[in-house]
Amino acid sequence: MPQDHAAAAVARATLPTPEPEQLGGPSKGLRRTTLLSRDERLAGRPNLCSDCGLCDTWLKRDMAQACVFVRNRAEAIEQRLFGRNRRDGDELRFGVFREMLAARMRKPVAGAQWSGMVTSLAARLLARGEVDAVITAASMPGTRFAPQPVLARTPAEVLATAGNKPCLSPNLGLLDTVREAGVKRLAVVGTGCQVHMLRAAEDRLGLERLDIIGIPCSDNVTYPDLTYFLEQVSRSPKTIVHSEFMQAIVLHELVLDDGLRRAGHLPQEVGQRRVSDIF
Ligand SMILES: Cc1cc2nc3c(=O)[nH]c(=O)nc-3n(C[C@H](O)[C@H](O)[C@H](O)COP(=O)(O)OP(=O)(O)OC[C@H]3O[C@@H](n4cnc5c(N)ncnc54)[C@H](O)[C@@H]3O)c2cc1C
Ligand code: SF4
Repeated sequence: MPQDHAAAAVARATLPTPEPEQLGGPSKGLRRTTLLSRDERLAGRPNLCSDCGLCDTWLKRDMAQACVFVRNRAEAIEQRLFGRNRRDGDELRFGVFREMLAARMRKPVAGAQWSGMVTSLAARLLARGEVDAVITAASMPGTRFAPQPVLARTPAEVLATAGNKPCLSPNLGLLDTVREAGVKRLAVVGTGCQVHMLRAAEDRLGLERLDIIGIPCSDNVTYPDLTYFLEQVSRSPKTIVHSEFMQAIVLHELVLDDGLRRAGHLPQEVGQRRVSDIF
């Protein structure tokens, strides 16, 4: 999957971009703060905030040190974890690695984004007794794409969270629960910014073991913006169950239609002028 393709699609847009107000459209845009909301939860946060959840916990006081949008500490964190920083080449995009492999599950996990490698790895950690709990993002009941962070205790609970919810998810908000439950060996599935905050606050967590399963993320939006986006570009926004931007800068969608799934794709021109203010 291309990392920058949504941004590239925006950069290549040739159609005029109407103001969001004209469309009753996105609540966020490049000309505005990331989380345009009067929600009290967001008070005191930087304009760029991915709602990672850290500020919903006792660690809020450490936000200025931990938040990547206040101060990017990735190089110092890499030095601490790996004893070195990224080298030229693939590591500049993927981070420090020993070996890079492409793999897929022989038997895909039900509802997985691709084949379910991520949830399978996390479930395996629990099955082997190597961790006590996993922070992962399920779907809020009654929705397909609204994220609901969960602290999974069993492999089945992890596997039930398969599939991307392509919007901001305050996963780290569960760190209070982790502390209260006395969890000492924790695994976390998270995007790059979530992992930065977590690693930056790691020494305050009192954990004996912390396993990270990172997932790539090039763009992220609020749930209302995702809903708006799907309404603009999907032929069936109420029944879409899976979407993915592909190499050819098209959006593939999987739609639930009378119990049958049909796949389709949208040429980039369809939605660009209506969605370029979201990403
Ligand atoms: C906002 C976002 C943007 C992404 N953009 C890209 C991209 O540009 N290119 C790319 O290759 N991959 C991207 N991904 C990752 C991709 O969608 C798949 O999750 C990943 O490739 C793993 O596939 P899988 O079948 O192994 O995962 P599965 O086994 O289906 O597991 C998916 C995992 O993703 C986690 N998850 C779901 N939604 C969220 C969320 N909102 N925040 C944090 N964790 C979540 C769940 O906890 C679950 O453990 C993105 C993910 C997110 C959340
Ligand atoms: S630490 Fe997380 S919740 Fe707090 S301001 Fe940064 S991104 Fe937002």
